[in-house]
Amino acid sequence: MTIISTECLYEVTTISKRPTDNPLTHVMDNTRTPGCVTIDVEEYYHIEAAHGAMDRSQWWSWPTRVERQIEGLLALFAEHDARGTFFMLGDVVKRCPGLARRIADAGHELASHGTNHDRLHRMDPTTLLADLVTSKRLIEDETGQAVVGYRAPSFSLTRETAWAVDVIRAAGFEYDSSIFPVYHPSYGVPEAPDRPFYVRGDGENSLLAIPPLTWSPGWAGGKKLAVAGGGYFRLLPLGLMRRGLRTAKREGRPAVLYFHPWEFDADLPRMPLSRVNRLRTYTGLGRATARLDRILTQGSVGRGGMGWKPMGEMLDQFRAIAGRGELVELGTGTGQGAKPQAA
Ligand SMILES: [Zn+2]
Repeated sequence: MTIISTECLYEVTTISKRPTDNPLTHVMDNTRTPGCVTIDVEEYYHIEAAHGAMDRSQWWSWPTRVERQIEGLLALFAEHDARGTFFMLGDVVKRCPGLARRIADAGHELASHGTNHDRLHRMDPTTLLADLVTSKRLIEDETGQAVVGYRAPSFSLTRETAWAVDVIRAAGFEYDSSIFPVYHPSYGVPEAPDRPFYVRGDGENSLLAIPPLTWSPGWAGGKKLAVAGGGYFRLLPLGLMRRGLRTAKREGRPAVLYFHPWEFDADLPRMPLSRVNRLRTYTGLGRATARLDRILTQGSVGRGGMGWKPMGEMLDQFRAIAGRGELVELGTGTGQGAKPQAA
């Protein structure tokens, strides 16, 4: 496992202040920043809105829908010559044998979304380490490929869960895509950068963080708007995401988008959710495929876009961008920074 020491981090930062002799600048000037389309591979019953409304022991008694949705997404990606990153949940790997293999065979990157879709706030270092190691092994055993990327359920890597940074490193991950630099009632670190950065939690280790796409139009008064996917993609005008994509391309930062298979399922089984959660979950499902088709078209290389590449193939470029910025201290030093027990 490669550990990026703090010393190494500062060395990169120092070098990047001398652009004329910095090899990283050379990489940046000659490489277009691509878009990264990512899929959180989970079933509809895993969503946070269903937590508490549907017991985990009942999950597998609900029909599985994820495979047919993934097949549709793989076909759509192929049409646009797009390759992406699939953050896969361990519970889906167990219930749908062969699915991870099919995604990998289609040329995409497999990454981890944890095992049981627990928000980090409901875990401690020991349970998180077990959750991460299990999901990583499940995917690696099926695909034979190393898994180096992680996305926490519901973007739950925040200041309150800063302790998780060291656990994610300890589990062998090289990058994370869980810190959303926006205001939201249940997640987000609004002051975090809108491009790749290094983050440190309560301990010594730092981690490469690749945030989902935000857009900061003048009329928002300096606030970053979430335009990366999920409910923002289904419920708001598509023009917001399209403007966000154009701005990211102009500014040379990666446009990281995220979607879920169940968002493309117009016949999603009805779950016993609250009225508000029903509205959030079931609105816009019928038009999601046509919308994603437009987004993939906008970003495709043939249309003068930036192309779509897996995050794992862009890590050198992302590290170069992160090395130019400040180290983000997520923790306060008072979190649950205890060393995790071996899983
Ligand atoms: Zn999820």
